Amino acid sequence: KSTTPIAPIPKKSNENFVSNIPYADLCNLFQEIESTASRLAIIKLCSDFLIKSMKQDSQNLITITYLCINKLGPDYEPGLELGLGEGLLMKTIAESCGKSLAQVKSKYHSIGDLGQIAMEARNVQPTMFKPKPLTVGEVFNNLKLIAKSQGKDSQTRKIKLIKRMLTACQGVEAKFLIRSLESKLRIGLAEKTVLISLAKALMVKEYYEGIDPDMNLLEDAEQKIRDAFCQVPNYELVINACLEHGIMNLDKVCTLRPGIPLKPMLARPTKAITEVLDRFQGQTFTSEYKYDGERAQVHLLEDGSMRIYSRNGENMTERYPEIHIRDFIKDLSVTKSLILDCEAVAWDNEQSKILPFQVLSTRKRKDVNVNEIKVRICLFAFDILCYNDNRLINKSLRERREILHDVTNTVQGEFQFATEMTTSNIDELQHFLDQSVKDSCEGLMVKMLDGEESHYEPSKRSRNWLKLKKDYLAGVGDSLDLCVIGGFFGRGKRTGTYGGFLLGCYNQDTGEFETACKIGTGFSDELLTDLYNRLKDTVIDGPKATYVYDSGAEPDVWFEPTLLFEVLTADLSLSPVYKAGSSTYDKGISLRFPRFIRLREDKGVEDATSSDQIVELYENQANLQN
Ligand code: ATP
Repeated sequence: KSTTPIAPIPKKSNENFVSNIPYADLCNLFQEIESTASRLAIIKLCSDFLIKSMKQDSQNLITITYLCINKLGPDYEPGLELGLGEGLLMKTIAESCGKSLAQVKSKYHSIGDLGQIAMEARNVQPTMFKPKPLTVGEVFNNLKLIAKSQGKDSQTRKIKLIKRMLTACQGVEAKFLIRSLESKLRIGLAEKTVLISLAKALMVKEYYEGIDPDMNLLEDAEQKIRDAFCQVPNYELVINACLEHGIMNLDKVCTLRPGIPLKPMLARPTKAITEVLDRFQGQTFTSEYKYDGERAQVHLLEDGSMRIYSRNGENMTERYPEIHIRDFIKDLSVTKSLILDCEAVAWDNEQSKILPFQVLSTRKRKDVNVNEIKVRICLFAFDILCYNDNRLINKSLRERREILHDVTNTVQGEFQFATEMTTSNIDELQHFLDQSVKDSCEGLMVKMLDGEESHYEPSKRSRNWLKLKKDYLAGVGDSLDLCVIGGFFGRGKRTGTYGGFLLGCYNQDTGEFETACKIGTGFSDELLTDLYNRLKDTVIDGPKATYVYDSGAEPDVWFEPTLLFEVLTADLSLSPVYKAGSSTYDKGISLRFPRFIRLREDKGVEDATSSDQIVELYENQANLQN
C-alpha cells in the first residue's frame, strides 16, 4: 500500500541553549507593539526583532516565539502553564517594590493591570546598586521553574524567583514580566502575527544563506508552519525543522508521529438529515455512531509503550491504566507503532452496553489504581492516522478504515470499531440515527468516504465531517461550550450557593470573553453546591480587562475564567445586553432559554465555543428560517 514515510525531525534541543538577548530589548518591543495599531507595522517590528536575534543565534527564534505567544513549551508537556493568581502576584509586588499589600490592592482596583502597577512601583524605588540586566534566556528559564514548581514550599519558591527577577527589572520590564506570569501579555499580538513574523525571519535566513526564497510566498510559508504545528504541536521541533530543511520543505519533514499528540480533526454541526444530503450530494459518504465519551488518541510507540491523549493533547494514559493497546493488535511482530483516533466510553459489562457520559465523568482523572476501577472503559476506534513508519492522513477514509480493520482485533466491551453504515437513502439514515440513540449514542458522525475530501485534516473543523446530534436537531444543531465568568447569588432554595451564572464565548482574534447568556436551568442542588465550592476561590475583585459585557448584564461576582459549561439553547437571537459576536454585528448574540448539560473538563477555556462559531450558528439558523 502506498503511504507517506515519516522523516525524523532534527532534534537540536533548546534545553541547554540560554538566550543572552537583553530582556529589556524584548520588553521594549512589547511596549512598541502595544502602542501600534497597524497589523503590518506589528509584523515589521516583530520580524525585525526576530531577524536581529536570529543573527546572534538561530535558537533565539524558539525562546522568543514562545515568549511572544505567552507560552513556555508545547501544550502537551505538563507543568508549563503559568497563569499565576492575582493574590500571589500582589503580595510579591508589594514585598519587592516597597509597597503595602493594601496599596497594591487599591491601585489594582483603579488601574486593573498588575504589570503597570509593578512597573510604576519599581521605577520610583531607590536602588543602591545598578542590578545586573536580565536576559531573555534567564527570564524564560525562571518562568519555567516557576511553572514547574509544585508541592510543599512551591509558593515560597515561586515568590523568591519572581522577587529576584523583579529586583533586576528596569524601564518597562516589570510590566511585561508580571503580565507574562499572569499568562496575559495583552499587547494585541495574535499568534498568527507572530507566526507570519517568524516565517519572514526564517525566509530572510534562507536569503542570507544564498537560497533566495520568494518573499511573495510569505503567507504560504506561514501556512506551512501552521500546518506543521497541527501535526507536531511543538514550536521547538517546527522551528528546528525549518532551520535544517527550509521552511518550504516543512510539510515533508515535520509530520505527525507516535509520541506527539496531533490536533484532532473536528466536525461541523448540522440540524437535519436533509442538510447532510445537500452537503454530500452525489458523493459517497459514510455514517458512524457518535459515541458520548471522551476523545482518546491512542499512540503505540516503537519501544512498546502506549500513550493516550485527550482532545486537547493532554496525556491521559494514567487515567486509563486498564487499557493496553497491544492486546488489540493482530500481529505485534509486524505492527511496531501506530496512532488511532477513538472515543473512550463508559461500559456496563454485565449488560454489555454503553453507559452515559455522566458515568464516565465519575472516574478519577489522576492516580487511578487499576484494582479500584468501578467504571469500565470501552474504546471505540474510528480512525487510524499512522501505522509503523507511514502516515495515513492523506489516504481516503475508506483505505484508512481497511487498514484499521486489518491491523487490530475487536474485543467486546474493551476495543470495538465504531458502528458504521454507508448509505445515502434518507429513510435508512433516519433509521440509523434512531438506532444510534437507542444504543446510547448522541447521534451520528457523517464523513466523506472517498477521495481527497476524505483525508484526515488535523485541527480543522471540516465540512467533510458533519455531526448530527439527535437532541439538537432543529435547534441550533449543536450544544455550546461556554466559559463561566460570573455568578449570581442564589435565592430561596438556592441561598448559600450561586443560583445562576454568566457565560461567555471566546473571541479567538482578540483573546476576549464575550458574554452570551445568564444560565440557571439544568442544575441539581448537589451540583450547585459543588460549583459554589469550586468557584468561590476563583472570585476576582472586578471584571477582567478581557471580559466584554454590558452593564445591563452584570453578575454579583466575577470569576477567573477556569471552567466551561456545555449548554443547550432553544435558539440564538440578537440581544441588547449580551456581546457574543459583537465584533461582527452591532449588537451581540445571545442564547435563548439556555440549559446546562454538563461540565466540559476536557477543554481549556480558550477552547470554548468561539465568537465566529456563534455567528455561524446564528446565520445558519437565520438562513433556515428564511
Ligand atoms: P468539538 O470537538 O467539535 O469542538 P465537542 O468537543 O463538543 O465539539 P462534539 O460536538 O460532541 O464534541 O463532537 C465531536 C466529538 O465527537 C469528537 O471530538 C469525538 O470525541 C466524538 N466522537 C464520537 N464518535 C465519533 C466518531 N465516530 N467519529 C469522530 N468523532 C467521534
